[in-house]
Amino acid sequence: MSESKTLPFNAEVRQLLDLVIHSLYSEREVFLRELISNASDALDKARVVGLQEQDFAAAAGEPRIDIRVDSVNRTITLSDNGVGLTQEEAIDALGTIARSGTKAFAEAIKDQSHNLIGQFGVGFYAAFMVAERVEVRSQSGRPDNAGVIWTCDGTTEYTIAEGERSDRGTDVILHLREDAEEFLDEARLKDIVKRYSEFVGYPIFVGEEQANEPQALWTRTPSEIEEEEYNTFYGQISGDFMPPATHLHWSADAPIQYKALLYVPSAAPHDMNHPDGRRDIKLYARRVLIDDAASFLMPDYLRFVRGVVDTEDLQLNVSRELVQQTATVDKLRSQLTSKVLRHLQSVAKKDTETYTGIWEAFGGVIKEGLHNVSSSKDKERLTSLVRFNSTRSDDDKGQVSLAQYVEAMPEDQDSIYYLVGSDYASVSRSPHLEAFKRKGIEVLLSWDTVDEWAFPSMETFQDKKLVSISRGEVDLGEDDTPSPTVSEDLAGWIGTVLAGEVSSVRTSNRLTNSASVLVDDQFGVSNNMQRIMRQLNQALPAAQRILEINPGHALVRTLDQLHKDGRKDEAQPLAWLLLDQARLLEGEVRDPVGLVERLQTLSTLAAQALGVNAQSAPHPEPTDEPAAAPEATDAPVVIEGEVLDASGEQLSE
Ligand code: ADP
Ligand code: MG
Repeated sequence: MSESKTLPFNAEVRQLLDLVIHSLYSEREVFLRELISNASDALDKARVVGLQEQDFAAAAGEPRIDIRVDSVNRTITLSDNGVGLTQEEAIDALGTIARSGTKAFAEAIKDQSHNLIGQFGVGFYAAFMVAERVEVRSQSGRPDNAGVIWTCDGTTEYTIAEGERSDRGTDVILHLREDAEEFLDEARLKDIVKRYSEFVGYPIFVGEEQANEPQALWTRTPSEIEEEEYNTFYGQISGDFMPPATHLHWSADAPIQYKALLYVPSAAPHDMNHPDGRRDIKLYARRVLIDDAASFLMPDYLRFVRGVVDTEDLQLNVSRELVQQTATVDKLRSQLTSKVLRHLQSVAKKDTETYTGIWEAFGGVIKEGLHNVSSSKDKERLTSLVRFNSTRSDDDKGQVSLAQYVEAMPEDQDSIYYLVGSDYASVSRSPHLEAFKRKGIEVLLSWDTVDEWAFPSMETFQDKKLVSISRGEVDLGEDDTPSPTVSEDLAGWIGTVLAGEVSSVRTSNRLTNSASVLVDDQFGVSNNMQRIMRQLNQALPAAQRILEINPGHALVRTLDQLHKDGRKDEAQPLAWLLLDQARLLEGEVRDPVGLVERLQTLSTLAAQALGVNAQSAPHPEPTDEPAAAPEATDAPVVIEGEVLDASGEQLSE
């Protein structure tokens, strides 16, 4: 045998091994599901690569997975004649965890089953739940490579040596731990295969016997398929242990002939927003897999959809790049997209509970579509799918659709009002809402970044304009009660005090309780958008905003009086305070030092007004002399809990 080398695992793998070996004892049988799933993936990949690369080695025989037990040596061997691994690939795939799989997995098992291991792209390491040593012997189908033997006893390192497998494929040899001998029983293994791997698309042999019946579930008639079978198949293709939220299974003949079985998961996969995240849509041409991750079949805003699509209208032997460019794929994508959207619409209508779960998991992603969608029909469908919080409910769990909003609004209301901010607390208590609350007008509330784009993208719904209430002037019609007034030049004067901070100051008709509020310019970039861009480190030139003041508020009226009386020194900090308050209400502190100074000035003024005239006393200068002993009195002195008498002697208890 040629020489071998020993390599260290990266920190993530070590952490994971530790977790797997020391804290996972129940449900250990899932190791088999994970290894079968990897073998099945390897067979899928071999099919796809074989179609695309001329010099890729052919397999010895039909694709299959074999599980063999050796009771004497206490080993289980899983073999596949799939794509195989080169040395570099083995180091890459088995020695490191590229993404944050471990962390996400460790988080998940805190309160859930560790059965989830496959979902986090770390399923291979489940082998160490039952094995004290694992050997992987692999031969890649790629030309000119020697094959590889990867060995690890679950510690901090693994060894790599040159391989000795003659044909393309992989053997995974598990040297079972003493406490895992139960898995040497073939009947037990067959049971586990039946339970978890029923729908693997390749024959699985345990010993001489085939343990599954590979079948293309999607080719069967929907009415003859049990829910359970749909769920098992979903688990198989997605690695997700939780059942899906919903599935759709249909076939079409024109303009393209295809069958599709698609699923919406019940929770967001941890890598949903990762550019290299798993995208489990498999594309088949007449039952033959041609792409195992055909993400191009779904728009980005539906990237959480999983499933299989099988069409009669694609060539088998075209490359992935070419497949993507065909008109057939374009048509397929648009068909699948509108079908999924229509299905979601119907779930929303018929099964609110399920839809609420879907919206919680994927709402943020779906809303991205409002901005990107190209077909106006799909945009309409998307618009009917969005849900928002609103002033109607008292918590942050509101689920209001635009249709519900419009239905509930008074006849003469011609706009749909919304407010987007940084978080629930500041949005739900925003001064912008005051006039709307007074008049009983519902406002949609959001603190989801994507809504800065989503709302403007919708423009209108059922001919009602969508209007941000933090922009421009509000016109909610005349009030019955005459509004209080302040001197005409007050706003202008405050404007000169706050020059450079705001573009102008005006009296407000949106405030009831608050003294002031900052308003975005009708057409400029909103403050919330500025905040988001700052977080992305893409600061925009600061937009000047408008400060609106409430002429009925005591603070404003006091300021008005001081201004009329020409008492500038007292009026100025009050004017600033109006700006400070408005910023604080948005959760922003721009100039904490200035703010504290102004508050101190005002407190001093208030104290004087109350007739209290406390001068701040200077601290004594520090000196080098020892501190003077306390003056002798008859009273006992307490020092750090000890009671001493005047002479310094400790008193008895
Ligand atoms: P995942 O399957 O989600 O990628 P795993 O931890 O289960 O994560 O497997 C890690 C990687 O190891 C796989 O992506 C694959 O590259 C490689 N691998 C595992 N088993 C096999 C196999 N039987 N044949 C070829 N490659 C394999
Ligand atoms: Mg896997």
